[in-house]
Amino acid sequence: MKKGKKLYEGKAKIIYATNDKNLVIQYFKDDATAFNNQKKTTIEGKGVLNNRISEHILSNLSQIGIKNHLIKRLNMREQVIKLVEIIPIEFIVRNVATGSITQRLGIEDGTILKEPLIEYCLKNDKLGDPLISEEHILTFDWATKKEIDKVKKLILRINDFMIGMFRGVGIKLIDFKLEFGRIKIDGKNEIILADEISPDTCRLWDSITDKKLDKDRFRKDLGDLIPAYTEVAKRLGILHEQSNVSAVNVTKLSSIKRRKK
Ligand code: UDP
Repeated sequence: MKKGKKLYEGKAKIIYATNDKNLVIQYFKDDATAFNNQKKTTIEGKGVLNNRISEHILSNLSQIGIKNHLIKRLNMREQVIKLVEIIPIEFIVRNVATGSITQRLGIEDGTILKEPLIEYCLKNDKLGDPLISEEHILTFDWATKKEIDKVKKLILRINDFMIGMFRGVGIKLIDFKLEFGRIKIDGKNEIILADEISPDTCRLWDSITDKKLDKDRFRKDLGDLIPAYTEVAKRLGILHEQSNVSAVNVTKLSSIKRRKK
């Protein structure tokens, strides 16, 4: 597969054309932004971790029948994905209230919601991704009723799956953001999951300590982000080999030190 010209550059990813008109390459950058681009930096290694974590989650979702844009990971920073027409809405899913909802509605931080809450934000950086209602979506034709109903069903399945997956490795899935795209498959119009699912787009808290293992480390200056994302990847079993290697190295290192003494 040949990599073509840059089609789009966003805050955290770049999309390149390929010699197949239906496929594009998604490149994960190290750039981190928050508060609608007001806070910016580069965090070396973030793109590599997000590429691996997103690949892991999306391929697991494929295995339970949730169609998505991922074809395969190419290398440390790139994956081949299906070209879709992104629905211009960020679908926010909340299991526990934190972040913007607590400020907007005066809800106590950490409140467990009696069922998952889906919120919609218009994807528009200039307007700061404003919160919108289903009525706005229908009035301005950003999506059809049928599309919203389909997306809602998918979101609840994705949320259930991800809650269980993270719970199994000692992490609480607090909230996350999803994006969906339109695509023609065998002549039929379909909606599939797109974009990425990573600690950049999820809030992940350690089940016991509530330690933040996500982008809030950067947003709220809570300390290094890479060790937290690495911890998520290790717990999910993605960095298993490397972590074994480093464990061996640590053991070797300490035995060398002991011998020297
Ligand atoms: N989120 C995201 N991209 C956005 C906005 C939100 O990935 O542009 C994710 C965010 O990481 C969190 C969830 O969506 O997991 C809910 O975010 P919230 O609305 O609370 O935003 P914030 O508190 O960051 O303003």
